[in-house]
Amino acid sequence: MDLTDFFAASYTQARRKFIDAVASVNGTLASYPHPTQHGPNGEPLAVDVAHIGDPAAPRQLIVISGTHGLEGYAGSAAQIAWLRLGNAGKLPPGLGVLLIHGLNPYGFAHFSRTTENNVDLNRNFVDHERAHPANPDYDRLHPHLKAEDWGWEFLEKMAAAEANYRDEHGADALFNARVKGQYNHADGLFYGGQAREWSNLTLQRIIEEHLAAARQVALIDWHTGLGKYGEPFFLCFSPEDSAEYQQAVHWWGEHRISNARPHGLSRPQYSGLVFHGVSRFIGNRPLVGAVIEFGTREIAMNKVQPLDQWLRFRAPRQTERFELLQLDLRDAYVPFSQEWRTAALRQSVDITEQAVAGLASWKLDQAA
Ligand SMILES: [Zn+2]
Repeated sequence: MDLTDFFAASYTQARRKFIDAVASVNGTLASYPHPTQHGPNGEPLAVDVAHIGDPAAPRQLIVISGTHGLEGYAGSAAQIAWLRLGNAGKLPPGLGVLLIHGLNPYGFAHFSRTTENNVDLNRNFVDHERAHPANPDYDRLHPHLKAEDWGWEFLEKMAAAEANYRDEHGADALFNARVKGQYNHADGLFYGGQAREWSNLTLQRIIEEHLAAARQVALIDWHTGLGKYGEPFFLCFSPEDSAEYQQAVHWWGEHRISNARPHGLSRPQYSGLVFHGVSRFIGNRPLVGAVIEFGTREIAMNKVQPLDQWLRFRAPRQTERFELLQLDLRDAYVPFSQEWRTAALRQSVDITEQAVAGLASWKLDQAA
């Protein structure tokens, strides 16, 4: 079998492959159509949700793809690969798996990391009634991260501004300022928004409608762009002294969970993560989980991130240049290389199986 068959070239194809794979294991499907947005050719957009195994079971694993739109081409393939190659058809008793496909369907269909409002959904789960987390260092960098025209001139100016900042504050501070999330620049990078996105509200609905019976919840949120090429990289957000953190170590291994340093740097002080949203939506029930990335261009991702906003806001459309640069952006997040795709998918099936086995052996109501 060629694992690249689990990948898709468009959002609509990915959806079809996902729905077929769910049917092959007799999962139940539900769809949450986007009320206002469409794909680039007018296609309908939706978050598709599949429940595998017993939907009323006390142990439930949530697996999300497409929080960051175009990264969903990898997350979708990971979900499909598990349905086709994993033990989806023979789950242990007392356990269900809820697959959430294309949580940010606009970004998925339009090959953007962000939502219809250029919001980074993984920075949007803050309390928008309160003052947003400040990021004055991003404010300072923003003019240099925004390309008026794409090309060497822009990239050199950005690199010079970043080098100045790094000389003054260090590489960890630069990475933190850039990626932790910002709430002031709607056309910028890692923008967390001013209100809850449709995908944020929809995730709450999905959890309320599908996980009412759950007593213990596990979460895998598939991403790409952090870590070594083709290798998984884990970000676990439970406090290190918690029982949930210990479970994650037990399921996936100490070496993956502890001291995870993205690109060899200190972990940013992220705000508004999906993980925080899911924690709130499930209330006082325990949650074990991680953002799991597959590495692509490593630290050189810094150079390609502003291309997303340039293509969306300023690039002349329907030109060969637009097409070529969009392919470069797609390849940066989900490499076309079969070597990468095969390596990532084989590991993603194992990681999902480890979560299923770990969740099955996690003693009920023993967690914190
Ligand atoms: Zn991501």
